Amino acid sequence: ALTTGIVGLPNVGKSTLFNAITRAGAESANYPFCTIDPNVGVVDVPDERMDRLAEMIQPQKVIPTSFQFTDIAGLVKGASKGEGLGNQFLSHIREVDAIIHVVRCFEDENITHVSGQVDPVGDMETINLELVLADLESVERRLDRVLRQKKSGDGEAIKEHEVLEKIHQALAEGRPARQLKLEEEELKRIRSLNLLTLKPMLYAVNVSEEDVVNPHENPHVKAVQEQAVSEGAEVVPISAQLEAEIVELEGEERTQFLQDLGLDSSGLDRLVAAAYRLLGLITYFTAGEKEVRAWTIQEGTRAPQAAGVIHSDFERGFIRAEVVAFDDLMQAGSLLAAREQGMLRSEGKEYIVKDGDVIHFRFNV
Ligand code: GDP
Repeated sequence: ALTTGIVGLPNVGKSTLFNAITRAGAESANYPFCTIDPNVGVVDVPDERMDRLAEMIQPQKVIPTSFQFTDIAGLVKGASKGEGLGNQFLSHIREVDAIIHVVRCFEDENITHVSGQVDPVGDMETINLELVLADLESVERRLDRVLRQKKSGDGEAIKEHEVLEKIHQALAEGRPARQLKLEEEELKRIRSLNLLTLKPMLYAVNVSEEDVVNPHENPHVKAVQEQAVSEGAEVVPISAQLEAEIVELEGEERTQFLQDLGLDSSGLDRLVAAAYRLLGLITYFTAGEKEVRAWTIQEGTRAPQAAGVIHSDFERGFIRAEVVAFDDLMQAGSLLAAREQGMLRSEGKEYIVKDGDVIHFRFNV
């Protein structure tokens, strides 16, 4: 499964947020395996379409798709030089697919800030610099090797050298590699380096409960937003403390609580949705009397590989997919009506699955 790592300076609210995430996962109980690694939290991906499908079909079970977060505490200034538990944490970040960077925008005199005052833009720079420095080291080490290979006339090495030089220049200027918008070909050449600053990243700004409804009135949030825009990064305002309270509530009680605050969804739900977008993920559904279920795939996935997410046999024995778009199905009112009205399409193995497709796979066993 794809996973996002939660990073940020100490005392910004990472653990509070992560605890809310694990608690939410435990509540949902679709993932008995999520207790194995204490640093991994698995949550449901909220999806209104799934709820509407369930309403229409009234299945015995409804199973949402899930999303994984990894808690990566301990990143501090100097981590790339081995400060704190430095390198160990950086290596954990290497394993994630995307980064959620938590920055503190709440004021609280009782909670010390590592640099003495609340300074989210400064914090962002501190963390980003550590990631840049760590990458710089990887790139320089690799450059040394590639230069030697290049001398012996290795054509691959020449091409790799070009990409590395480009990245090196950006990093030396303090810019993350993701800003270079490298071509697929170039990315392939340096994939094994697993560069930290190539990973997609979004900022989760931790605000006080009071600020949650109008986060942009908080000048700290505004500053973060401006900085993020210049990096092309998304910002998700969230109140970690409030999320911890929200996960304690269920059903109607939760809806009411959110309504009273003037919110239509929890911050965690918005964070999951943003992380989903960041990773280029989409959802398709399977729908029958037994169960309505949501599945996660990467945008651009073809039908057989999408089927493979359910079971490898589905991919191996793939014959075709019967597909109806979610909106069409809702319009028709039932699967049967959709079939009668010719909305159910038969798609072959080249079909690229779209977000919201409701699919029945035909396969050989
Ligand atoms: P971490 O070091 O980044 O994991 O930070 P923690 O989650 O441990 O939070 C540090 C302290 O800040 C804890 O005492 C939290 O209760 C507190 N804290 C977290 N979020 C908020 C918030 O939104 N408002 C206030 N006032 N305190 C918070």
